[in-house]
Parts: sequence; C-alpha cells; structure tokens
Amino acid sequence: MAIVDHSALAVRYATVKASLPDHITLVAVSKTRSVEEIQALYDLGHRDFGENYPQELREKVPLLPPDIRWHFIGHLQRSNVKHVLPVCHLIHGVDSPKLMDEMEKRAKALQRNVSILLQVHIGQETTKHGFTEEELKQFTFGSPDPIERWPHCTIRGLMGMATNTSDPDQIAREFRNLNDWHQAIRTHGPFPLEQFTVLSIGMSSDVDIAVKSGTTMVRIGTAIFGERA
Ligand SMILES: *Cc1c(COP(=O)(O)O)cnc(C)c1O
Repeated sequence: MAIVDHSALAVRYATVKASLPDHITLVAVSKTRSVEEIQALYDLGHRDFGENYPQELREKVPLLPPDIRWHFIGHLQRSNVKHVLPVCHLIHGVDSPKLMDEMEKRAKALQRNVSILLQVHIGQETTKHGFTEEELKQFTFGSPDPIERWPHCTIRGLMGMATNTSDPDQIAREFRNLNDWHQAIRTHGPFPLEQFTVLSIGMSSDVDIAVKSGTTMVRIGTAIFGERA
C-alpha cells in the first residue's frame, strides 16, 4: 500500500488554495493517484476530484466516500459514456454532437440530467481534442438549439487546454480567446445565464495565467499531489 506524506500534501494543498480567489472551483486531478492519496485530500476537506480514464474512475469510485464530486476531464469515447455518466458530477471534455447524442440517450434512460462542458480546441497541438471555433459557433447557435436537441444534457460552460509552451503571452492569448467565447455565448447564446457559468481553464503549469484570464474552474494535479510517477 502506498504511504502518503500527509504533511507535504497539506502544505501543497494549502498553497494552491491560497493562490486562488474564493469564487474559483478547484478540481484536484487525481489520475494515477492512489485511493489513499485521494482519501487524504478528502480528509483535508476537499470534495472535487478529476479523473481522465474511465476504467480507473470505475475502480476508484466505490472505494471512496459517496459525497465526492467526480469530474471527468479526459477524452471520452461514446462506448464509455454508460460507465462515466452515472458517477460524474460534471463531464468536461465533450467535443462532438455524436457524443452528445449518446449522453442524451443514457441520461434520458436514467431519468436524470447530465452536466457537461464543451471542450474547445484552443492550443496548437493537433493531438488535443475539442470543437474548433467554427464548430463551436455552429453547435451553439445552430438550429434546433442544443437545449431542444439534447434536453437531458445541461451545458454549463467551456473547457480548454492551452498549448504546452513556455511562452506565457501565447497561453494568455489562448485563454482570453476562450473567455471571449464564453462571454459571447453567455450574452448571445441560448442558455440561461445562471446555467452557463463555467470556464474550465488552468492546470498546474498555467494556473496563474488562467486566474488572470477569467477562469472559474481550475484542474490541478501535480501542484497538489506532487509529480506523477
Ligand atoms: C492531467 C490533467 C490536468 C492536471 O495537470 P497537472 O499538470 O498535473 O496540474 C488538467 N487537465 C487535464 C485535462 C489533464 O489531463
């Protein structure tokens, strides 16, 4: 069993928390972390955890407290929606109408709504996922609108990942661009204002830039749990 360094974890967690304004939601990214590490952070009062891999999520959920809010932040395939949807509080990486179709089907069958974020491709790497800006525009402002088309999917906002670069100006430009989209959709899009509130940008390496660029939700792994093995 992995031994958790509780005091180091507490110090790193307090440091990250202190760097974030109160209105920003901190999602602790726990991919590859042991159940013991997650439980230790839970015991410090934390409730929002992010996982990337459906299989890993399924293994961890039953071993941890039921009031954890699980965020799915990885790339989601349609075949995994049925496993991920029932246990998640928010699904961040939704990037196609076909995936929405599958979510709608599964959510409807469970007689519930699923909360999601639309992932937008803002970085330069072609390996990254997400709607292009043109697709985002079509998706959001197209007809019939997303509320009519997917009534069991509650679209709460946007998620993005900046280019993996050491140039802070480029990261800031990409984040601000996504914030502009977020504002434009809030102002002109079909969603109720109190629903479309989340802008999920910022990870350990670029969280300070994300805070300056209007983030409302950051996804932090390394800065809380230490380097991944
Ligand atoms: C792993 C991951 C993170 C966290 O990255 P850190 O550098 O460990 O903070 C955030 N978002 C996504 C989508 C990730 O896959």
